[in-house]
Amino acid sequence: LFIDHPLAAGQPVPLASAQAHYLSGVMRLKPGDAIAVFNGRDGEWAAQIEQAGKRGGSLQIAERTAPQRDPPDLWLIFAPIKKARTDFIVEKAAEMGAARILPVQTDFTNSERIRQDRLQAHAVEAAEQCGGTYVPQVEDLQPLSRLLDGWDARRRILWADEAAAGPAATLADLPAGPWAILIGPEGGFSDSERARLRGMDSVSRVSLGPRILRADTAAVAALTLWQAELGD
Ligand code: SAM
Repeated sequence: LFIDHPLAAGQPVPLASAQAHYLSGVMRLKPGDAIAVFNGRDGEWAAQIEQAGKRGGSLQIAERTAPQRDPPDLWLIFAPIKKARTDFIVEKAAEMGAARILPVQTDFTNSERIRQDRLQAHAVEAAEQCGGTYVPQVEDLQPLSRLLDGWDARRRILWADEAAAGPAATLADLPAGPWAILIGPEGGFSDSERARLRGMDSVSRVSLGPRILRADTAAVAALTLWQAELGD
């Protein structure tokens, strides 16, 4: 369970009402039951439920069971698509260890709005489900052009480009990272965006194979390729 609170042995920690309700109503846990918690900074801790009900509750923190594990230094930049598929991208990126998730508006972006708080909550749930000790940061929607204007060239952009043709790329041949994977919207990037990306020294275009993948599939495929070849 993710707890946004400092964790230390012997300390009580308050539970928000939604979390307390989840533990008692959904998980059917009772006072005295054990649970593993993390706060994204201090590793994983064993805790005991003191009380949990509809109006809130508290935990008693016991001992640290695993050290803090930092995320791989990987970012994902993507153009939001339909709500459910945007949720899917954020969830899978969090499961696959992206440290920072950056939704961007592009010339052909399908969705002009996101609910950053909802997406951040999906990232928390994904981190809880895969046993991580950190939660990726989901940024607010921003224009791709603004992101590129301020881009620090020390981080390289792995641009998944369906026009890069040929078999899926071998990332081991690329210059050293850290990396930010870039996935375009359903309609792809516009000519001016493509020209801009092609002109940037910090960008490497890569193929994910000869088929045109849906943006959500492409995000998972690129994250998998990165994890298989460069990840930890
Ligand atoms: N422009 C395309 C079109 O309408 O024909 C489709 C874009 S595709 C549905 C969405 C995004 O997924 C692309 O912008 C790209 O980032 C990524 N993508 C899809 N298939 C890919 C492939 N085979 N190799 C690399 N990237 C791919």
